Amino acid sequence: MKNITRIIAFSLLSISIMFSSCNPKLSEKDLEEKAAKIHQSILTIDTHNDTPMRLTRSDFNMAERHDARKDRSKMDFPRMQEGGLDGAFFAVFIGQGPRNPEGNTKAYDRAIKIFKAIHETAEKHPDLVGIATSPDDAYRLEKDNKIAMFIGIENGYPVGNDIGNLKEFYDLGARYITLCHSQNNDICDSSTDKNGADHGGFSDFGIEVVKEMNRLGIMVDISHASDESFFDAIKYSTAPIIASHSSSRELCDHPRNLNDEMLLALAENEGVIQICILSSYIKKDEPNPEKDSAMAILMEKFNKLTDTDTIERDILRKEWGQIRAKYPSKLANVQDAVDHIDHIVNLIGIDHVGIGTDFDGGGGIDGCFDASEMGNITLELVKRGYSKKEIEKIWSGNIMRVLQKVEEHAKSLAT
Ligand SMILES: [Zn+2]
Repeated sequence: MKNITRIIAFSLLSISIMFSSCNPKLSEKDLEEKAAKIHQSILTIDTHNDTPMRLTRSDFNMAERHDARKDRSKMDFPRMQEGGLDGAFFAVFIGQGPRNPEGNTKAYDRAIKIFKAIHETAEKHPDLVGIATSPDDAYRLEKDNKIAMFIGIENGYPVGNDIGNLKEFYDLGARYITLCHSQNNDICDSSTDKNGADHGGFSDFGIEVVKEMNRLGIMVDISHASDESFFDAIKYSTAPIIASHSSSRELCDHPRNLNDEMLLALAENEGVIQICILSSYIKKDEPNPEKDSAMAILMEKFNKLTDTDTIERDILRKEWGQIRAKYPSKLANVQDAVDHIDHIVNLIGIDHVGIGTDFDGGGGIDGCFDASEMGNITLELVKRGYSKKEIEKIWSGNIMRVLQKVEEHAKSLAT
C-alpha cells in the first residue's frame, strides 16, 4: 500500500513538472507576439556579411529591396528593417592571392576600395544608416531608428608585411580582422588550406599583428583559422577574441567550426562565438564529391579575380548558380541553427554566443534565408524558453561586451 501511494505521488509530481515546463498557456500566436515584441525591443547585430562585395558594383543599391531567390542578394536596408536587424558588421573581404609584394599591394588597394564603398553607402543614406565603431554608436543609432554599419576585415592579407596598415584600417573603421580566409597567409594558418599548415598556427609576424590589434582596439577574429591558430590567438591576444561566423563542430563536423575544447577555452578568454547560418556549417551535407570538386575549382577562380574583372565575376556567379541547381541540397533550418546555440549555452553559458549570418558569402538557411527573416531565430529561442535578457545577450549584448572590453583594453595599454 505504501508503495502504491509513493507511485501515485511520484506520477502526480511528474505530470505537474511536465505541464509547467511545457508552458501550456501560450498558443503559437502568443509565442509569435511575444517573440516579435522582444525582437523589436532589443538591439540586434549580425557580426558578418559579405554584402560590401556588391557595394563596389555601381548597379547595386542598398536602399532598394532585392529578391534573394532571384538575384541571390541576401541583404539590403529595406530587408534589414523588415527583419528587425538593427546593425551588422560589413566585411571588407579579400580572397587570398599570391603572398608577394605585388599580391599584397593588390589586396591593400582592393581593401581600400571596399572601405570607400561602405563609407560612401553610409554617406548616401544618412537618414537610414550610420557608421558604427563602438557599442555607444550602435545603441545611439538604434534610438534614432537607424541601421548601424560596423566594419570588419575578412582576411588579414591586405595588412601585407606592413604592420602600419593596421592603424590605417582602424582609422577607416575596422573593428575586427578575421586573421585569414580559406588559405594560409603571412599571419597564420587557415582551417581549410588544402596544402596543410605553413606556420603551425601563427607566424612571428602574426604575433606582432595581434599585439598591434590589441594596442589599437581591433577584435581578433579566428573564424577560418586553423585549430593551432585558434589556440595561438588565445595565447597571444591580451584581450578577448571572437569567432565572427563559426558554429559548433560537435553538432556539425566541419573544420570551420569550433570543437568543445575550443569553446571552453573561448569562454575562459571571455570571448564569443557567433553562430554562422551557412547551411553546411550547421548540418552536414550529404557527401557529394562531384559537387565539392566543382565548387573548389570555382572558388579558386573567384579568388584569382581582380577588381576590374566584373564580367568574369558575373560569369562565375552564374556558374555558381548552375552548380547549386545541378546538385541541389536540402538546407539546414532555424531549428538546426538554434540547436547550435543550445549546445554552446549548455557547454559554456549564455555569455559567449551570438549570430553571424555570412549573408552574401554563402549564408542563409530555411526559415532565415535573408535579412528579412531574422525574427524567426528569436521566435525559436522564445519557443525553447529563452528569456528576453538571454535573447538580448545572444543578439548583441555579448558581442558589444567584447567590443567594449577590447576598446578599454587598448586604452589601458596606452596609459
Ligand atoms: Zn567567411
